[in-house]
Amino acid sequence: MTMQEINTHRKSFPTKQQVMEQTPDPAVRAMLAHLEAQGVETLFDRFDAQKPQCGYGLAGTCCRHCNMGPCRITEKSPRGVCGADADVIVARNLLRWMAAGVSAHGARGREVMLALKAAAEGRFSRPIAGVEKVRAVARSFGIDDKGEEGNVTLEQLAGRIADRLLEDLSRTVPGPHGTLAAMAPPERIERWRELGILPISAYHEVFEALHRTGTGTDGDWRNLMTHLLRCGLAFAWSSVVGSAIAMDSLYGPPVRQRIAANFGALKAESVNIAIHGHSPVMASAIVQAAESPELVARARALGADGIRLYGICCSGLSSMYRYGAVHPLSNAVGAELILGTGALDLWVADMQDVLPGIMNVAECFHTIVVTTSDSCRLPGAVHIAFAADHGNLDQADEMAHRIVAMAVENFPRRQAANVFIPETSIDAEIGFSVENILADFGGAAALAEHLQTGRIRGIVNLVGCNNPKVVYEKAIKDVADVLLSKDILVLTNGCASFPLLKLGYCLPEALEKAGPGLQAALAGKGLPPVWHMGECLDNARASGLFRALADALGRPLPQMPFAFASPEWSNEKGLGAALSFRLMGLNSYHCVPAPVFGSDKVRRFLEEETEALLGSVMVVVADPGQLGERIATDLEERRNQLGL
Ligand code: SF4
Repeated sequence: MTMQEINTHRKSFPTKQQVMEQTPDPAVRAMLAHLEAQGVETLFDRFDAQKPQCGYGLAGTCCRHCNMGPCRITEKSPRGVCGADADVIVARNLLRWMAAGVSAHGARGREVMLALKAAAEGRFSRPIAGVEKVRAVARSFGIDDKGEEGNVTLEQLAGRIADRLLEDLSRTVPGPHGTLAAMAPPERIERWRELGILPISAYHEVFEALHRTGTGTDGDWRNLMTHLLRCGLAFAWSSVVGSAIAMDSLYGPPVRQRIAANFGALKAESVNIAIHGHSPVMASAIVQAAESPELVARARALGADGIRLYGICCSGLSSMYRYGAVHPLSNAVGAELILGTGALDLWVADMQDVLPGIMNVAECFHTIVVTTSDSCRLPGAVHIAFAADHGNLDQADEMAHRIVAMAVENFPRRQAANVFIPETSIDAEIGFSVENILADFGGAAALAEHLQTGRIRGIVNLVGCNNPKVVYEKAIKDVADVLLSKDILVLTNGCASFPLLKLGYCLPEALEKAGPGLQAALAGKGLPPVWHMGECLDNARASGLFRALADALGRPLPQMPFAFASPEWSNEKGLGAALSFRLMGLNSYHCVPAPVFGSDKVRRFLEEETEALLGSVMVVVADPGQLGERIATDLEERRNQLGL
């Protein structure tokens, strides 16, 4: 990207004022105006204060990897002190982000894998709820579910699965990655083998990424990109699929249901607790504790009508689709707006996308913030957490009881005059999984037939986080509008799913936004045109559905009219998510570019050269409407090549 391109990019960043005028959810607009009037700072103020953003940062051409630096690439200084050029610096920076993404999903996966193992061995008092999942995964893994005497218990199977997942997460001695070998499409495994990118384990690939990006190690941008691909596979098959298997095995599959979403679901009469973060372990215990007759009675004695739970980001979403009654309010970027209602008695945060800025807003009100992970502490928060070695997992129920009790006792401290809740609320259909979707249609072949006949032109997994570089939540809505109008079915999860939940896209009535083909395909089924598959780890459900449909049509994934889109992505996990779909042969589409434009070589690798390697590329189009059009055009091209 030339300096002129960077300046154009920088000038496209919206101001807070533009967000207040253009973000699509009226409740968000009302809340931003309210907090502005109250003088409460939010992420959008801080984004404005950071302007103009550093051009070297945007181009990816600054390096702080050693103390001879920092170095930046300019015409006058085309190499860092060590001799690294722009291509190497951009590639190294990207690879370190990727390693962070593998670690992030992997770390919360580790927590639930350890919980599954502990439950299987009787050290964690949680029944194994995913009976069918455990049996199906055991079959995929080739684990004998009968045993010599035909008496292998569910717990023993779950324990062996947990061991396999933990081994794939942390293997040090090189060997096959068991989850990938058992579950990835054979055509893809062969391709990855030819490219030499089969991973050893998540831990190893992150270790190696940090090693080779260190001073004076890998000076070849292309070799760094090869390791980026290897990390992408570790991300997909350990950090995402492995974690998702552990979650569904321990806590059970999603339950299809309807739930009230957005600010209006927040009730001033109740003891209100927000669940924020990414791990289901403490979140599940809190849902259980909130049903305690003793705590509910105490809440009523203090004048509340009960205890009510709300979902922020992904641990909120996964609790919602498993247990119901956890009302989705906001993604991570909007978390401060929820705190700004003054109606939350307690905010429990586990890990990741818990932005430090939430504490500044919480301090303006009576809200107690509790952190529950040793990896994620916030000054001013109460810390009731699992130990770093998770040796106190068996105390989860007792800790959850204490946390809910704190919320109940805090209810009388709420100042009614400080409470402001925009009334907007809407129902949403949630809990879509591969299993229940295929059951709805009577099997993969019936759904695939809609692709074959062209009633459904393609399927897009529309996900990702949010980014103040574009108008909050608007890019996601705009892309969805284009896709639906062109008869493209939308899957969603994670932070991007919140605007779709809040703006009615997850209701059957939203079919009126769809073209006639998609309407015909879903007519009479009572299904919305956007299928909410859960939290960001549930990209595993989307890729599972894609695989099932490709198999039903007897075609490899890189030929199928499927795509991944994260228009507003911002964090390291988002980089991994997009790459993991590209590794499957599906393009990824974005409005916000990665900081790779300081290197034509790295940029060309991602935007063009991976077509020959993987059958997919990264596509960046700043305008969301045009991005939607580009996705539709590319899916039509795939249909043409398939002869559909
Ligand atoms: S690693 Fe090289 S480019 Fe990076 S800060 Fe050190 S000397 Fe500069």
